[in-house]
Amino acid sequence: MKVVKIFTFDSSHLLDGHDGKCKNLHGHTYKLEVEVSGELIESGPKEGMVLDFGDLKKIVQREIIDKMDHAFLYNRLNERERSIAQMLEGWSMKTYPLEQRTTAEVMSKHIFHVLKAHQLPVTRVRLWETPTSYSEYEPNVG
Ligand SMILES: [Zn+2]
Repeated sequence: MKVVKIFTFDSSHLLDGHDGKCKNLHGHTYKLEVEVSGELIESGPKEGMVLDFGDLKKIVQREIIDKMDHAFLYNRLNERERSIAQMLEGWSMKTYPLEQRTTAEVMSKHIFHVLKAHQLPVTRVRLWETPTSYSEYEPNVG
């Protein structure tokens, strides 16, 4: 059995070295779909649920949305992006580092692993970068 909860957040980023317009600083309203799977809980207050939507919301909100929303997402290993992040941090503005380029592909995989590390039985993460483009990460699919 699977359940999915959908979130949105706004972030800025750029892809240094990109051969098109994404090399410029810009923003997205990301839509995040988190799928969790498991057997139905058989008794108690959560009977008939895989996971309480309220509990799912709490974890995703705390570990992902609160950290990425209205933040500058950047590749910590890229000098230019790191410089921008340091400047913003100097002005107490919000940043969020990744270990790779901040593409939807990298972000969906990163979000999956962050949630997994917080004991969420997550099986798939789909991240919409625009209303017509998404990346999906499922561990067995790669
Ligand atoms: Zn972009």
